Amino acid sequence: MVNQQYAVIGLGRFGTSVARRLHEAGHDILGIDVNEERVEDAELYVTHAVVADTTEEKTLTAVGIRNFDCVIVAIGNDMQSSILTVLLLKELGVKKVIAKALGKHHGQVLDKVGADWIIYPERDMGERVANQLLSPNVLNYIELSKEYNIEEILIPSRMAEKSLRELDIRAKYNVSAIAIVREGDIIISPPPDQIIHKGDLLVVIGSREDLARFSNIE
Ligand code: ADP
Repeated sequence: MVNQQYAVIGLGRFGTSVARRLHEAGHDILGIDVNEERVEDAELYVTHAVVADTTEEKTLTAVGIRNFDCVIVAIGNDMQSSILTVLLLKELGVKKVIAKALGKHHGQVLDKVGADWIIYPERDMGERVANQLLSPNVLNYIELSKEYNIEEILIPSRMAEKSLRELDIRAKYNVSAIAIVREGDIIISPPPDQIIHKGDLLVVIGSREDLARFSNIE
C-alpha cells in the first residue's frame, strides 16, 4: 500500500471517523480544527493535529497544504467556512478536495468553487439504510453508473456447495461473479469450477434490475 498524505479539516463526528479510519489503514493524517479541545482529542488518531482557522490563506500555506494528496473538508454547520476553505484549497492548487455538504444548495456551491467530490452523509446513509431493508442479502455496493452496480451478496443457501459453472448465474440472471469473499479472504476472478460455500459473499456486477432479481432469490 502506498502511504498517502491526507489532511482532514473539521474534527467533528464525520471528520473524526474519516481521520480515524485512514490512520488505522496506515496513512499519515493531519487533523485541523479551530476548536482546541477537538484538536487535543484528535491527537490519539492522527499523525499531527493543529489548531487553525482554515478560512485564512496564510494558515493553509503555513501547514504546507499543497503537499497533501487529498484534503477532506468536514466542516458542516458553518457553511461559510466550509465554502471559503474549499475555495482557498483549490486556489492553492490542492489536487483532490473532498467536501461534506449539509444539503443540495450547499453542495451546489461547493461544486462551483471546485470541490472534486461532494459527500452528502445524511442523504447517502438514508439511501443505504433503505436499500439494506429492501435487499437484506446485499451487504455492500458500489454504484458504477445510474444503471450498473457492483454488489456484495450473501449467497442464498440453496446455492451453497455448488460450482460457479453449475450455478451458471451469467446465463440465468445476467450478472457476473468477479470475486468471492470467504472468511475475510478474497478470491479474485474465481474459476468456473470454484465451489461456493455457505456464508460466502459473492461480488457480482450487473444492471441494478438483474442484481435485484439475483439478490432476492431465496
Ligand atoms: P459533525 O456534524 O460531523 O460533527 P460539525 O459541523 O459539527 O460536524 O463539526 C465541524 C468541525 O469543524 C467543528 O469541530 C468545528 O470546530 C470545525 N470548524 C468549523 N469552522 C472551521 C474553520 N474555519 N477552520 C477549522 N475548523 C473549523
